[in-house]
Amino acid sequence: MTIRSAAPKTHAATNGKKTAHSVTVTMPAPSPTPAPSAQADSAYGTAIAQFDQAAKILQLDAGMCDLLKSCRREITVNFPVKMTDGSVRRFTGYRIHHNTSRGPTKGGIRFSPHVTMDEVRALAMWMTWKCAVVNIPYGGAKGGVIVDTKKLDMHELEGLTRRYTTEIAPFISPDGDIPAPDMGTNPQIMAWMMDTYSMHQGHSVPGIVTGKPINIGGSAGRNEATGRGVMFTVREAYKTFGWKLPGAKVVVQGFGNVGSYAALTAHEMGFKVVGVSDVSGGIHNEKGIDLPKLMAHYRANRTLTGFNGSEAVSNSELLTLKCDVLVPAAMENQITAANAGLIHATMIAEGANGPTTPGADDILNDRGIVVIPDIMCNAGGVVVSYFEWVQSLQQLFWEEPDVNGRLERIMIRSFHDVLDESKRRNIPLRTAAQVLGIGRVAESTKTRGLYP
Ligand code: GLU
Repeated sequence: MTIRSAAPKTHAATNGKKTAHSVTVTMPAPSPTPAPSAQADSAYGTAIAQFDQAAKILQLDAGMCDLLKSCRREITVNFPVKMTDGSVRRFTGYRIHHNTSRGPTKGGIRFSPHVTMDEVRALAMWMTWKCAVVNIPYGGAKGGVIVDTKKLDMHELEGLTRRYTTEIAPFISPDGDIPAPDMGTNPQIMAWMMDTYSMHQGHSVPGIVTGKPINIGGSAGRNEATGRGVMFTVREAYKTFGWKLPGAKVVVQGFGNVGSYAALTAHEMGFKVVGVSDVSGGIHNEKGIDLPKLMAHYRANRTLTGFNGSEAVSNSELLTLKCDVLVPAAMENQITAANAGLIHATMIAEGANGPTTPGADDILNDRGIVVIPDIMCNAGGVVVSYFEWVQSLQQLFWEEPDVNGRLERIMIRSFHDVLDESKRRNIPLRTAAQVLGIGRVAESTKTRGLYP
């Protein structure tokens, strides 16, 4: 099946009748819809550059490329929220479905002052490839609200969440599009989303979101899943490459959900975590950081600074610390052409989505640094989201060891699928993961055929 992009055409409208003076009306030519512009170092620019590279290797035709590059549905919502001081503020949010060939769309909701439509497009596209790489039956989606949650009280945050959910309600459903947490959102926010949607339906709909608290139908192990999945992958890579694990040094950028559980899991596996950071800066301890103690310190103080026996480092210094495994688990565009030459790690395991720019990738490849790409490495979150969704739909709940065992098997299998693709085609792991994911989506598109 060849899918061509909508090329300009001339339509002849003759009204179906032959008359002596039939008039040919030339309709204005529909111009090919331009893909939204992608700026070079934006997340969307990165996503498009990665796609183009993989599509070339897969030799996808221009029409298929045009289709897979575009987001299927995009919605912008502007909505009011009543603030505690009695004023009303308008917020802007988005929800984007990138592709539905392999199943309903799946992806997180981001609350951040930096959210843009283009960023959400990139993140939705990465979700599509991610779900395909780990072979779970979803397409990709993402949502976001432009908001600095630190400036809201709990009541305002709940009001914003409930109104945003109401605004996007026609766009989400348990078998159409299932949101989850992402940067700036958490299980409590998922609980409010689930409750709001359920109130509209008149009954509980636990399958509408994943990443819910366990007492309302969340899955055991979901909260830890992304960070845990990152380290299952790193451990498998160590085993496969024959590298020595005990005491290998790990540095983690970001101490949110992904970073904190990646660091804790690394510590539990016998790695030595020597540096971690959050938005306000990092800490370094060459002898190794006691993660359970640090987590308790962080919970009590909401900051890493002042932790016993560690020295303060800036976020940029943290990325260049001497270590074996660097886990960027903060946000996009952290490893760029400007600092890729300064990185001392032998492996980068991407916990965040899009932390490395294409320019940095080239430098890291030349330097022989192994990069385990985001769409494979951080897929543990959406894998356990899939388990949670299945449990919610069936109202049948699994034990945590069962969840973790299944997660580990999927991460290991996916890592080897990507590694095999990389060896077979002699391409870096990132390109191999993209080729695998995009190739599977293109195949599903062909198998389903086009409607009508
Ligand atoms: N936001 C997470 C991600 O980027 C999880 C998405 C989900 O669980 O649906 O993969």
